[in-house]
Amino acid sequence: MKKKISLVVPCYNEQEVLPHFYAEVVKLAAQMPSVSFEFVFVDDGSQDCTLPIVKDLQRADRRVKYLSLSRNFGKESAIYAGLKNASGDYVAIMDADLQDPPMLIKDMYHIIKTEGYDCVATRRTNRKGEPPIRSFFARQFYRIINALSNIELVDGARDFRLMNRQMVDSIVQICEYNRFSKGIFAWVGYKTKWMEYDNHERAAGQTKWSFWKLYSYSLDGIMAFSTTPLAVTSVVGLVFFLASLMLILVMVIRQLVWGGSVFGWSFMICILMFITGIQLFCTGIVGQYVSKTYLETKRRPIYIVKEFSDECS
Ligand code: UDP
Ligand code: MG
Repeated sequence: MKKKISLVVPCYNEQEVLPHFYAEVVKLAAQMPSVSFEFVFVDDGSQDCTLPIVKDLQRADRRVKYLSLSRNFGKESAIYAGLKNASGDYVAIMDADLQDPPMLIKDMYHIIKTEGYDCVATRRTNRKGEPPIRSFFARQFYRIINALSNIELVDGARDFRLMNRQMVDSIVQICEYNRFSKGIFAWVGYKTKWMEYDNHERAAGQTKWSFWKLYSYSLDGIMAFSTTPLAVTSVVGLVFFLASLMLILVMVIRQLVWGGSVFGWSFMICILMFITGIQLFCTGIVGQYVSKTYLETKRRPIYIVKEFSDECS
């Protein structure tokens, strides 16, 4: 019996690039005759012609499955929807924009089959074609999240990976609402081999990530996998408490020894503003965790499917 590889492809406004992408994966399938393929396109609430294109593909090729979400839920939700509906023995996640070269799947599959890995993941060795400021913040993000959490994220890691069924089942079991896939992949464990490749620029269309989207995505990632910021707030509180005790002591001694007025008003105001600032900052951090918990406890679905091909649900 032939093994089956499912390709999960989240698509958001990818009308320009989808035909090229499909042509590439068809080539890939032709080069791997010993396995059967399934292409799971997840239309993440696109406003352009992505869905009609995917429907056309599905009519012409029975290997194509699609799900269309009721609105734009974000790449993380689209990946989850795709993984839930992938039926292959092995599942790959790849972007529609050809930044993830489909031909690498051949090597990945070979490695999983022959070297006993559960997953082959990819990382970019450079960030060619990316704005330097974005690269800088991305690097800092990896440094911070690795320092604060007990999962190990690889700098430059992409979502592009091939996993075996066991690992996919473990990922699908994690049904948290605030999803940060890179963290979830690391958290579930399993033996992962890292493959490196040079960054490719998008074949067509535009990136869907603005600076602010990336910023909030990175905060989500840190909060999903680390509670260290919460611990930091209590440490900050303790430090200020001890400092204030020492200050009181200094003032009492000063008063007893030299007498006279202690500190001026302006100094008081500065201290007051400083402490209030720190307090609000710490409350803000706690608030962020409370809001995540709030959203998590509502147990809203991670995605809503509006339309799907017969095999999906
Ligand atoms: N994507 C998605 N939903 C979104 C944003 C992006 O499904 O809300 C898909 C997009 O269609 C693409 C992949 O996620 O297939 C990666 O997006 P993009 O290329 O914009 O990200 P970048 O490669 O710039 O990080
Ligand atoms: Mg891209």
